[in-house]
Amino acid sequence: MKYKTLKGLQDILPPEVSIWQHIEATARDIFRAYGYQEIRLPILESTDIFVRSIGETSDIVEKEMYTFQDKGGRSVTLRPEGTASFVRAYVEHHLYNNPAPQKYYYMGPMFRYERPQAYRYRQFYQIGAEAMGVEDPKLDAEIISMLTKILSGIGLAGLNFEITSIGCKKCRPAYRDALKNFLREKLNSFCSDCQRRFDVNPLRILDCKVPDCVSIRQGSPPVIDYLCAECKEHFESLKHHVILLKVPHTINPNLVRGLDYYNKTAFEVTSESLGAQKAVAAGGRYDGLVDEFGGPPTPGIGFAIGMERIIPLIKDSVNKTEGPDLFICTLGEKTTEEAFLLAEQLRSQGIMVEMNYELHSLKSQMRKADRIGARNVISIGEDEIKKGLIVIKDMGSKKETEIGFYAAELIKIIRENK
Ligand code: ATP
Ligand code: MG
Repeated sequence: MKYKTLKGLQDILPPEVSIWQHIEATARDIFRAYGYQEIRLPILESTDIFVRSIGETSDIVEKEMYTFQDKGGRSVTLRPEGTASFVRAYVEHHLYNNPAPQKYYYMGPMFRYERPQAYRYRQFYQIGAEAMGVEDPKLDAEIISMLTKILSGIGLAGLNFEITSIGCKKCRPAYRDALKNFLREKLNSFCSDCQRRFDVNPLRILDCKVPDCVSIRQGSPPVIDYLCAECKEHFESLKHHVILLKVPHTINPNLVRGLDYYNKTAFEVTSESLGAQKAVAAGGRYDGLVDEFGGPPTPGIGFAIGMERIIPLIKDSVNKTEGPDLFICTLGEKTTEEAFLLAEQLRSQGIMVEMNYELHSLKSQMRKADRIGARNVISIGEDEIKKGLIVIKDMGSKKETEIGFYAAELIKIIRENK
């Protein structure tokens, strides 16, 4: 075979596509109930949008971005995540002028140049949500509850919802010092990336995936012990409200996020069935990001679900192609034309119709109808046309009914047979 998808990319074929559609439809319904509107953003953005927001020392910016020069010599990047693009749009279109909270959701592909492995792709899809303009932790609890509703609505069970607070600009200096004090004597054992991070952005060391670094940093002080009064109060209220909403969760003080823009609330949903790549969704608060993009100081919170990580968890339950409502078998040139017209008439009424285009035996046509999972079958011969009567066979119950050969009669019985 000559041509193949690029490494880390994949084609999504039917019938698997139906699972994607099921997930998207479920998410859309729940977003609607919570007042979230869809926003569609470009896949390509100016590189600095991501460098600025995700952070120069983050893994994404340092190693994972698809960045290149376009023909005009601009540095552009295929979006590695949705929030930075969203905030760019939020500021560009002055969406902050709408009554708060402004709530948006998006669905689409993201790109990260990572080492492909199970459940880790270079093009992957996220469903994400962003809620802007409200600092109150009730909004955090609400968005966390909405995320659990989406995941359970899709049919996922056995997930762990982990929540923490990672503090804000005010509590960070004290925490940074405490962390550096803890890491200092062990620094020589860390990877070279972490040694560099120690001075520029020590918090990033907590996110390093190198196994040695993971074990050496064990026992480092959790941010939760260093929260300022405001963050502490925010976190207490968040905990109260997630309990009030009966969201099953655990508090994980060791949770860190790989992007620099987060503050206060951070969360992650994991599944033990996925092995190493166990995060199915993640998110948090980013109260300083709009400001950073030149908009008025505006709090924000959001999350993103990784589609490729939830698909395998429900794959067996909905993996089926939808067969046509009706398959039309034809016998001879003249009847094919008749069937061709009828199919068009029925389709305009929303009936899914397939037919035989070439002259094949009735037996082979029936076999095809069966293979593609047609729910009803008719065969049109000269006789049927002459008499104005036709036999429709319900492929499920095998029941055969003789009816008038009109679109209206067919539609009626097809709907009854469903
Ligand atoms: P991980 O720790 O697995 O690298 P992350 O912290 O980089 O995840 P986020 O940036 O928080 O991931 O993205 C949110 C979600 O998007 C993740 O929880 C995961 O489900 C999904 N995701 C991230 N990177 C990939 C990828 N390369 N392939 C598939 N899904 C991904
Ligand atoms: Mg990652």
